Amino acid sequence: MEMQIEELVRSAGLPGEVTRILEQNGIRELYPPQRAAIEAGALAGQSLVLAAPTASGKTLVAELACLKAVLGRGGRALYLVPLRALAGEKYDDLAAKYSPLGVKVGISVGDYDRAQGRLAEADILVVTNERADSLLRHQASWLTEGLALVVLDEVHLLTDPYRGPTLEVVVAALRHRRPDVQLLALSATISNAEEIADWLSARAVVSDFRPVPLRTGVYLGGKLLLLQEGERPVPGGLGPVTDLVGEVVGEGGQVLVFVATRRSTQAAARRLGRPVRALLSPQEAAALEKLAQTAERVLEESTPVCRDLAACLVNGVAFHHAGLHPAQRRLVEQAFREGVLKAVCTTTTLAAGVNLPARRVIIRDLRRYYPGLGAGWIPTLEFHQMAGRAGRPGLDPYGEAVVIAKGEAEKEELLTRYLLAPPEKITSQLARSGNLPAYLLGAIVAGYAHSLPQVVEFFSRTLLARQYGLEELRGALGKSLEFLLAEELVRSWQGGLYPTPFGELVAKLYIHPLSGVVLRAGLRQAAGKAPGELALLHLLAHTPDMEGLRLRQAEVEKLTEVAAEEEFLLPVPGPKEPSHREFLEEVKVALALRAWINEASEAELEERFGLGPGDTYRLREEAAWLAYAAERLAGLFQLGVEGLVGLRMRLRYGVRAELLPLVQLTGVGRVRARVLFEAGFKGPEEIARRKPASLARLPSFGPALAKRVWEEARRLARLAGDKP
Ligand code: ADP
Repeated sequence: MEMQIEELVRSAGLPGEVTRILEQNGIRELYPPQRAAIEAGALAGQSLVLAAPTASGKTLVAELACLKAVLGRGGRALYLVPLRALAGEKYDDLAAKYSPLGVKVGISVGDYDRAQGRLAEADILVVTNERADSLLRHQASWLTEGLALVVLDEVHLLTDPYRGPTLEVVVAALRHRRPDVQLLALSATISNAEEIADWLSARAVVSDFRPVPLRTGVYLGGKLLLLQEGERPVPGGLGPVTDLVGEVVGEGGQVLVFVATRRSTQAAARRLGRPVRALLSPQEAAALEKLAQTAERVLEESTPVCRDLAACLVNGVAFHHAGLHPAQRRLVEQAFREGVLKAVCTTTTLAAGVNLPARRVIIRDLRRYYPGLGAGWIPTLEFHQMAGRAGRPGLDPYGEAVVIAKGEAEKEELLTRYLLAPPEKITSQLARSGNLPAYLLGAIVAGYAHSLPQVVEFFSRTLLARQYGLEELRGALGKSLEFLLAEELVRSWQGGLYPTPFGELVAKLYIHPLSGVVLRAGLRQAAGKAPGELALLHLLAHTPDMEGLRLRQAEVEKLTEVAAEEEFLLPVPGPKEPSHREFLEEVKVALALRAWINEASEAELEERFGLGPGDTYRLREEAAWLAYAAERLAGLFQLGVEGLVGLRMRLRYGVRAELLPLVQLTGVGRVRARVLFEAGFKGPEEIARRKPASLARLPSFGPALAKRVWEEARRLARLAGDKP
């Protein structure tokens, strides 16, 4: 029996408008897993783990449950996603569809908060797991007030060593505050759904339904063996990837190619250029020309990687990796969705990111280099995440996920290890991650636990406790607590546990407790002195909240020399000590940041440090935040450190201090600020005193931008003038 949407909406007590909105989105009747989820109580407050393939419509269940929570139960819903990019996507989607119903949708991912009305008034709030954790530490009571539903999207990320622990702790905190809240966990690749459901006091709904059938196969020596279809030759003779791409693009489909490294994404995209270009229509070629120009001009100054991207884009091919600027990544994703791009070569990180399906998905590299461990097979779960992207609903008759073998033996290996194997079980990474002290401090600061038994009780709601037992948990917590007490982040008094002001500040700044300890030590060293820029930047780089930059062997000697001439705030390990290499990696970060705040061009950063625009972006955000944390800690401990004030803004904008008054103007980045400064415009006042035309003449300014900047400068100058 098929369930009509109209009937469902009526029986769920939702307004009839919902039917119209869904029908506009092409939804007339429920897919089987959706029906199963609703029969299991998704709209009746029942917690569920919904384990079903990508594109099987899990999101719709979550949306309906949100509507039910808001419109039917008068409550609020929290939509948790693992990545910022996903949060943006989800927010746009929900707001477009449901704000006409009067549902207020909000998003909070850090500096960038948006809601129709105040955040606290949002009916559905989309947040990243990290942001939810941070808000909870600030005891933001509005977050859980009236909370009826929590959606946990991509819940398999529990098993990710970096992202999983936060989600676990957020779930524990939300359930601590609202024991009866409905949880709706979604994932495409979960093999122990029952166990996860048990942890969440939920029911498991498991389905292998796919609206677009998925074929999986292995390519070897010109032949493609599809498990569901049998073997057939692939024409071409230009190499496995090119042939596999050309075949599908020739039929009007699109292809995603997953490879192991950034460098390979670029090399693979370049190789595909000529054969794909040959398949483009003149209109497509014209559209791509425009796209390439836009992508190259995302930054004020283009870098080699920007130019490489532009050169690929004109051929209908792109690469996608973390070195690209977020705006460039969005352009690539958008163009692929619109069908303008035919193939995208990407690192496996995309598999965990935005929703970007393609008719054929080629997973070229199944081995990857793991720092400290060497090369190894990627987890089966990751393979399934990538494979699941094959098949665009509504566009493709089927999807194909293809791996490439180099010989018969490897073909067997790939079949048993990936194609025929289920994903690994989801397991807790909380004890292993090294972040337990951070979560423990967070729990004490948030007020969940005021004694050791209460701490244990709080953490007994984690997956760690469920999977490894209370003994394991007690051991791990005991060690973390010792550290927090020894470093005076927490005080113990008459059996109770209390955060010190230091501990409270560290938790609320959302930095690792060890980062707080490192910064405190460095700032004490620096107090009353004028430490060099490099010393301060190295202090930030030494915290566990910043990762070092990998060294090429050739750099070791040079960096050792540079380091020998500098003074640092922290003890420097000798060249024979095992931590010396790590130290050099931190020095490399500090050197890159120093170049950045002294206005080295992005191209230079790419050449000297291997930093793409996306890396610079990430690095500067992290460093700016830690600089802010350092400023706050210096305030707390009453330590005067010269050079610290202003560092945060310099890091954010990549400028010398003299440009700070200029970069506050919208549309003025580091390059234009320098142009203005050299032309004698030292701040908004100088700009306001002249005519817009005098700006329009400057390089990198057009008349429109000149006018906008001039108007804003005038406004700012007036504000400043009004001050007594
Ligand atoms: P998932 O969350 O499981 O990955 P999505 O919710 O993204 O799947 O669904 C994939 C596509 O299928 C979306 O474009 C969605 O609008 C569409 N879809 C979902 N449910 C239905 C349905 N019952 N009928 C038709 N299309 C649907």
